[in-house]
Amino acid sequence: MATPSSPSEIARETLKALAARKLPPTPDNYAQAYQEISGTEQMPSGATAVLENIAQLLAEKSPETAASGKTLKQAVSAQNWENCQHELQNLLLQTTEKSPSKIKGGQPTELSWPNLIRDLLRQLDIPHKGITLTRKKEGIETVLSRFTSDAVVLHEKLQSLVRSWSGTTSAPNETLAVADNIAPLAAPGTDKPMATTPGGSHALLVQLRELLAHTLENTQYTQPELGAEIQALAQQARAAENSRQITDLANQLRKFWLKLELRGGDKVKIQEGLLRLLRLLVENVSELVADDKWMLGQITTLKDIIEQPLDKNSIADAERNLRNAIIKQSNLKQSLSDAKITLKSLMTTFIDRLGDLTESTGDYHTKIEGYSLKIGGADNITELSHILADIMQDTRIIQASALRTHEELLSTRKQANEAEERVRKLEQELEEVSEMVREDQLTGALNRRGMEETLEREFKRSNREHALLSVGLIDIDNFKQLNDTLGHQGGDEALVHLTHVIKEALRPSDSVARYGGEEFLIILPNTGIEEAIETLERLQRELTKKFFMHNNERKLITFSAGVALRMENEDKEDLIGRADKAMYQAKQTGKNRVVAAA
Ligand code: GH3
Ligand code: MG
Ligand code: MG
Repeated sequence: MATPSSPSEIARETLKALAARKLPPTPDNYAQAYQEISGTEQMPSGATAVLENIAQLLAEKSPETAASGKTLKQAVSAQNWENCQHELQNLLLQTTEKSPSKIKGGQPTELSWPNLIRDLLRQLDIPHKGITLTRKKEGIETVLSRFTSDAVVLHEKLQSLVRSWSGTTSAPNETLAVADNIAPLAAPGTDKPMATTPGGSHALLVQLRELLAHTLENTQYTQPELGAEIQALAQQARAAENSRQITDLANQLRKFWLKLELRGGDKVKIQEGLLRLLRLLVENVSELVADDKWMLGQITTLKDIIEQPLDKNSIADAERNLRNAIIKQSNLKQSLSDAKITLKSLMTTFIDRLGDLTESTGDYHTKIEGYSLKIGGADNITELSHILADIMQDTRIIQASALRTHEELLSTRKQANEAEERVRKLEQELEEVSEMVREDQLTGALNRRGMEETLEREFKRSNREHALLSVGLIDIDNFKQLNDTLGHQGGDEALVHLTHVIKEALRPSDSVARYGGEEFLIILPNTGIEEAIETLERLQRELTKKFFMHNNERKLITFSAGVALRMENEDKEDLIGRADKAMYQAKQTGKNRVVAAA
């Protein structure tokens, strides 16, 4: 709002400010508010000095005014402006009680002091173009110091000083112009009009009444509903012509101000209370909007408040209730939130454990993950309760299944253990079997695989130890014939007998392998060719000693053999090949012989 500039605007705003602050329109309050509105400087010292001087003047002037002067002086020093006003009003009334003859014949200037002071104070407050406050004070000081001895002159000088200031405004002149048209005052306590003294006390009284009426009318701006009452009081103020009417008006005004104060106070408090309520609702609305029931309650409360006649007590009650409810609600919400967090935490732990329990079962795991997500997203206790119920339901199933799974798992593990044991045994058996498959099933000699392994091993050792290694290849002589004579089984038994004899005759480090049908390879580690030949010949001799018995008949088994000493880095095929050639030679040269390979 722009700062008011005209005096009437300033006056209006000042009255509004007083009403808003619940302050009675005392001179002091009025002055302070006025200064704030108009932006003028504080001037308490100057005004106080003026009042003190006036009080001093009254005290010294005459015995009649001495008491008033003393009272005024005390009020000024105590800064009790209400008493000041009261004393000045008394003084004013006392003056009106003076007889017309005395007024006419004497000096009626005493009557004008209160008005002069009021006018002086007012004009001190009002900014005048080209006249600073300091200059105004200096003007007053000068007048006071020069004209203290003569009250009449002092009054006139002060009045002309004030008028010289107010020459820049029209208000005082207008007021005075109105005063000239007012009917004469009646004596106090009577209806008898008092004598008119133009430019004197009556004019100032009229001015005072007009100011009062104007002030009252201004009140309407802040209290439009009291318009009729204010108009009536303003009219009463303007029409107050005798002391009874003035006293009556004063009483009416006191009641009105009290009413005004109460109303203003209430109104401000109601507005403040409503604002607080509104603020409470606004502040809490985002927090509470999720809870429809709560919100509905708040709106109902507010509706109830607005529908009822507003007074500060009902607003305060409503505010207190609302505030308590919000605190309670907030505590509940906090507890609920805590409980929810705890519940969530419990449920999460529960699910984690359940998850661990059923970890191996993918189906349950997926389900549990679903619940975890639901719990994370839940934001009210009802939703959590439903999830919990679902979990409990599923848990019973899951637990039963988990138990079943567990039992199944135990049983499977048992079976697995048994199977493992069986496998171990089988493996052992297999190992044994595999050992066996290195032997020829019929004769017990090494089979071809066994022969290969043994040769390989012995070749490495021979290489490593630079040891001699010889082999002898045996082929049974005329076996076809034997088979034919004894039958195939007889032939087999002959093979078994031969192997047995050979094995017994060989050293432990020697080996015998079934190379073919009736062909055998004798492996002789650490054996040179001569020794090998000797060994094979010894085998021949053994066979002549240990006959093959078939159907209680001695059967001589002979063989032809080729012997070969492994040459350096010679491989199996070459070695055996040479032995085979030697064996062939043995066959070719009469059989039952041992021939050394070339
Ligand atoms: P040679 O002195 O020239 O070796 O005359 P041979 O009769 O032994 O002739 P050859 O070596 O060619 O014949 C071998 C025979 O041995 C042929 C086959 O029927 C027989 N035979 C081979 N393996 C077995 C076997 O496991 N059991 C039996 N009973 N006979 C076999
Ligand atoms: Mg043969
Ligand atoms: Mg043969």
